[in-house]
Amino acid sequence: MSEQLAKELQLEEENAAFPEVVAVAEGPFITGENIDTSSDLMLAQMLQMEFDREYDAQLRREEKKINGDSKVSISFENYRKVHPYDSDSSEDEVDWQDTRHDPYRADKPTTTPRKGFIGKGKDITTKHDEVVCGRKNTARMENFAPEFQVGDGIGMDLKLSNQVFNALKQHAYSEERRSARLHEKKEHSTAEKAVDPKTRLLLYKMVNAGMLETITGCISTGKESVVFHAYGGNATEDKVIPPECAIKVFKTTLNEFKNRDKYIKDDYRFKDRFSKLNPRKIIRMWAEKEMHNLTRMQNAGIPCPQVVILKKHVLVMSFIGQDQVPAPKLKDVTLSSEDMKKAYYQILNMMQQLYKECNLVHADLSEYNMLWHDGKVWLIDVSQSVEPTHPHGLEFLFRDCKNVSQFFQKGGVAEALNERELFNAVSDLNITADNEVDFQAEIEALEKMNEDHVQNHGKKLSMFSSDGDPPIYDE
Ligand code: ADP
Ligand code: MG
Repeated sequence: MSEQLAKELQLEEENAAFPEVVAVAEGPFITGENIDTSSDLMLAQMLQMEFDREYDAQLRREEKKINGDSKVSISFENYRKVHPYDSDSSEDEVDWQDTRHDPYRADKPTTTPRKGFIGKGKDITTKHDEVVCGRKNTARMENFAPEFQVGDGIGMDLKLSNQVFNALKQHAYSEERRSARLHEKKEHSTAEKAVDPKTRLLLYKMVNAGMLETITGCISTGKESVVFHAYGGNATEDKVIPPECAIKVFKTTLNEFKNRDKYIKDDYRFKDRFSKLNPRKIIRMWAEKEMHNLTRMQNAGIPCPQVVILKKHVLVMSFIGQDQVPAPKLKDVTLSSEDMKKAYYQILNMMQQLYKECNLVHADLSEYNMLWHDGKVWLIDVSQSVEPTHPHGLEFLFRDCKNVSQFFQKGGVAEALNERELFNAVSDLNITADNEVDFQAEIEALEKMNEDHVQNHGKKLSMFSSDGDPPIYDE
């Protein structure tokens, strides 16, 4: 099947490239351009035709000479060699078409004067007249969107009843909206692996500007982002581009982000802006948030990707890994018990730094968002990280602690603190409850106290106190 198609395509191509050769081979399809000149008979006939034309022209000249301006003329018509029907000259063509009535042109709809009717007596027609109304309706189809196929209907003397017209109109409008929606989806959604045209353009510009050398491929497609690997390009005056980069493209399909509202909506850093933004801008804010959080971590010396550049919803950072191979996640790597213990203490230290120096809670910390590279743990994926005074900040921290404790306890690190001890070690909050339910209740009470304070003073708490007393307010 495909072989046949290939042959046909090749023939078509040859036809275009070598028309005269094919014309001889194909025989009967003779046109003005590719007459078969290989036959003697054909050549003779063509020459004869030429002579006949010349003869006729001479005849016409003589006819004109004899007749002059005389009102009575003699016709030489019957002596002509080439009959008018054989002639290809357009001179003799009769314009037979009646141009006054074009059946495909719409009759002007008759308008009804103000008084509401035309005519007299029993010939009276009002604006409700079926024919008048139908014609008007037909003409009004022209107002539908250009993509809406109305065929030749507008041109013909169609009379659409109000009912039919209204149904059509309804359909035309809903079609218009549907096609707009489809277009929007195509333009803005970031497909599973590929990216939408706008993102592609952004990436292309980065390569074109020499900032990136090549984008080699996709490392990960998550619910909320697609991550690519790229080789870094030339350094600029103010920027050193790492030799290998990770490009995190935040997905612009919005559904996944709905359940993340609570992270950003209550984050006072973004509070004022959140309410005014459209969903696309909110997604850019996730990227922006990740950039700011990574920068804070970088400044505190926590191993994490280094921000290269942020463009809209695309964040370029240094690549953790080597030769296009990303560093494994902690959940995928088998560490010796020594490395496991080392990793645990490193994480404990990083969580404290994050809380105290960066004023951040990761909020999605687990073995899925920690990479093992160069003999140490690297933290990634911090777009959802919040400050500890976020209305749910301490709950997020407690969840992080649970993940970390469980992972290392299961991984055989005997020294690993349980989640409550870890929480206190990170936050210095000294919550004394010895079971999870009470512990959680105390966390929520603290959060509530903070919220009340914000409500009353329009100001957040600077830090929670370290001895379990009510927090010290920063007045
Ligand atoms: P998501 O929100 O989709 O989980 P992440 O930031 O966790 O996004 O990135 C998804 C995956 O991409 C990570 O698990 C990791 O394997 C890879 N990745 C992300 N950033 C980097 C990076 N800077 N270097 C190497 N790999 C990365
Ligand atoms: Mg992740």
